[in-house]
Amino acid sequence: MPATEIHNWGKDIFSNPEVIVKPETVEEIQAVMRDRQRYPSPVRAVGSNHSTTACGVAEGGTLVDMRKMNKILSIDADTITTQAGTLYIDAALALERQGKQLFVNVELGNLSMGSACTGGTKDASMPGEVGQVCSYAMRIKMVSPSGELIEFDESDPKALQYARSSYGLFGIVYEVTFKVQKLRPMKIYHEGYTLEAFIQRLPELTARDESMMFYFFPHEDRIMVEYRAYQDGDRFSRRWVWKVRNWVWKSFAPTYGWFVSKYVPWRGLRYWLVDTLNKIVRWVQCGMLHGERTSPTAQMIRYPETSGRSKYTFSIWAFPEEEYPAILRDYFAFCKDYYRKTHWRCDMLNVGYRIAEDRGSLFSYSYSGKVMTLDPVATGAHGWDEFLRAYNDYCVKRGGVPLFNQTKWILPEQACQAFDGRIAEFREQVERYDPEQRMLNQYFRERVFQDCPASTGEA
Ligand SMILES: Cc1cc2nc3c(=O)[nH]c(=O)nc-3n(C[C@H](O)[C@H](O)[C@H](O)COP(=O)(O)OP(=O)(O)OC[C@H]3O[C@@H](n4cnc5c(N)ncnc54)[C@H](O)[C@@H]3O)c2cc1C
Repeated sequence: MPATEIHNWGKDIFSNPEVIVKPETVEEIQAVMRDRQRYPSPVRAVGSNHSTTACGVAEGGTLVDMRKMNKILSIDADTITTQAGTLYIDAALALERQGKQLFVNVELGNLSMGSACTGGTKDASMPGEVGQVCSYAMRIKMVSPSGELIEFDESDPKALQYARSSYGLFGIVYEVTFKVQKLRPMKIYHEGYTLEAFIQRLPELTARDESMMFYFFPHEDRIMVEYRAYQDGDRFSRRWVWKVRNWVWKSFAPTYGWFVSKYVPWRGLRYWLVDTLNKIVRWVQCGMLHGERTSPTAQMIRYPETSGRSKYTFSIWAFPEEEYPAILRDYFAFCKDYYRKTHWRCDMLNVGYRIAEDRGSLFSYSYSGKVMTLDPVATGAHGWDEFLRAYNDYCVKRGGVPLFNQTKWILPEQACQAFDGRIAEFREQVERYDPEQRMLNQYFRERVFQDCPASTGEA
């Protein structure tokens, strides 16, 4: 009989493992790997279980909850080493106290370091940097599926590239070292545009050479951009800017979305309320939420361990930057058309990120060049899953690339289309590190252990 039902943070992905283990030492993980009777396969590690796909599901197997292995082991001049269950925000705050910072300050502070170094993440790239956390992992230590200790580092860049995309399929990460840098003040400001003005001005806006996160409002043909850039010096101010911005994200906007979806049955009124809040948010962000010298660490959010009424969810696909203007215009039309046909639309907003070319990991979604993403965000109310299936279909047909842990409902054939020859390359590596398929769950079996149609060229 399964031990218990586990769900992800969003409470929409369920796992029924036979055994749940919460190791505090490496030896305990080794014991799990070696004892197949007591700890059945698949063995899946999880950190904070914030993923929106079944990547961490251990149906009938062994779930290894890494959250008790949360020690920061060392901070050196330009690295931090932690156990795999350490939260990203805890690492960032410890670094900040020493005048240092992580390279990619993703909004999700609850991201565990084990997931951060082996899975997909996104944040708008800062000038001269990439936007995927795993690319800054320089040493990853794992317990292999047979219980041995294995290590990946910069002495073998190809193996490290594979490990950074391994999602626990090569073994369980117990320790990781990330590169860090000096803490620098960060400028932040917002600007709003109509869709057409944004598309026309895009070359000029990207030439500013500042990081760009997008807030999209397809039903109003509006866009807001959050710009960020590092500044010189050691003086910091206006932490409250991030506090206000993050409170809206973490609590107010999702609770409001939940409320209107649940209690306002007339869709005209419901979405008028959603649009009105979005107008106010744009007005406040463009008019008040700016700062010349904020701390980059302050942008991270520590979400509650268990989600409540303020929970929200999202999905993501990435597109080549040069094709993005046409895709964006088309996406706004797609959202309106979907609403006309089904009367369903997101009860929050859509976002997107501009992310630099990055071959740090095999499944990098910006492997072939700079990308911009399209990420619908909603409370997950009735109709969300059906919308995502249509959105996935829309995105893959336009050459989109998904993330295995953040793009819900990707079909095996869509993974093939997006990653092309990289699926077969990765499968070879999984077979090498885990010949007996101890770590392989159904989700990855379907997406990685398939024969994709003949290669169509570099994805
Ligand atoms: C509200 C919310 C906001 C978010 N915001 C962002 C954001 O701003 N930027 C962003 O990039 N992402 C964001 N995400 C997505 C999130 O970063 C990813 O889903 C990430 O994988 C979650 O980390 P986790 O520790 O919860 O991983 P989990 O969901 O626990 O695991 C993810 C994968 O990693 C594997 N894994 C976990 N730990 C280990 C380990 N020790 N060894 C081997 N494999 C392991 C799991 O098996 C699984 O395949 C957000 C998610 C939510 C719900």
